Amino acid sequence: MSTPKSDLRIAIDGAGLLRRLGELALVSEAPAPVVTRVLFSEADARGREYVRRAAREAGLAVREDPVGNIFARWEGSDPGLPAVGSGSHTDAIPNAGRYDGVVGVLGAFEALAALKRAGFSPRRSLEVVMFTAEEPTRFGLGCLGSRLMAGSISVERAQALRDREGRTLDELRAAAGYSGPLQSVRLPPGYYHAFVELHIEQGPILEAEGIPIGIVEHIAGPSSYRVTLHGEGGHAGAVLMPVRHDASLAGAEIALAVERAAKTSGSPDTVGTVGVFRIEPGAVNSVPFKAYLEIDLRDARLDTRSRALAEIRGAAEEACARRGIRMEFEEINADPPAAGDPKTVAIVERVCAELGLRSLRMVSRAYHDSLFMARVSPTTIIFIPCRNGWSHRPEEYAAPGHIASGAEVLAHTLARLAT
Ligand SMILES: [Zn+2]
Repeated sequence: MSTPKSDLRIAIDGAGLLRRLGELALVSEAPAPVVTRVLFSEADARGREYVRRAAREAGLAVREDPVGNIFARWEGSDPGLPAVGSGSHTDAIPNAGRYDGVVGVLGAFEALAALKRAGFSPRRSLEVVMFTAEEPTRFGLGCLGSRLMAGSISVERAQALRDREGRTLDELRAAAGYSGPLQSVRLPPGYYHAFVELHIEQGPILEAEGIPIGIVEHIAGPSSYRVTLHGEGGHAGAVLMPVRHDASLAGAEIALAVERAAKTSGSPDTVGTVGVFRIEPGAVNSVPFKAYLEIDLRDARLDTRSRALAEIRGAAEEACARRGIRMEFEEINADPPAAGDPKTVAIVERVCAELGLRSLRMVSRAYHDSLFMARVSPTTIIFIPCRNGWSHRPEEYAAPGHIASGAEVLAHTLARLAT
């Protein structure tokens, strides 16, 4: 029971929330403790049914849009006002855990249920969203539901998405029972007054600092690129060094340029990774004639990320010209960073202080639906610690006390925003 100065007495049912997290974890394509719920799989369908039921149990009215975003609403006394939103995702990559995303959906249901028990009556409507396909497993592109809601992806591009079996979004959503034009997924301007997502940190900072709540001030913008390098192969003994066009060495220079550019961008939040580096033919006695790299470049600032990218491209062009290598450099995807809303961040911070919970302002470094919600609404994310910073694996763990604290902070924050 907590009583910050709003004198709203909110009691989170931590045991009930944990039980529901455990129940939803069993809705999986793989045996426990592994959680796998890929978009529009049979487990995803059962997960959606669970979410609808949990929403109704929390006394919320459920609607769904044509891409399968689920909205659970508590109508405010002034329903014409922009609503206050919360929520996250329940899809899970193969071999994942039970907390990523799910804490933000079931935690928001519990926050609203606790507000109802406390006798709170919102002026603005409160709405929990379960976003479709935050994870990129099916289509290779994440945050599909929130991108469409924010208008950050064109309907044409969404319709061109194909899964590994060549099935389109329209085919798969129809099979899952979703119809209607994708155009209507986009939120009308000013739909949300504010949006607050609850999520596990997926990083080690809160646990290491012993701080229960993180408040996101900046959401890093991820980008990724593929680089294909065409050199000239030959016998590793016969082709002498002065006449070589070794594609792997150009690739090695590019990988080092990624590291250098990220380290010297001027922003401590620039991170650059070459996570894929393949060479052909891949034989010890053969000069590599081809190299293929994928670069991941992220930053909380767009200017420093763009500068780092320009430096990487420049270094790559220079290395390829010098080595007689032909290069193709393509963008796979680039999303700009987003800022947390200062007023909403300050509200969460004040709530934490009043509840006697230490909090820390943070940068969100993974993809979150909030990256896209921040384009159409004042937004922040409430982080709770997770063990060793682990996520996307079955050992993912968040302590019951931290989950309850996160839901409690969310409840108070939503109450203030909806008043
Ligand atoms: Zn997530």
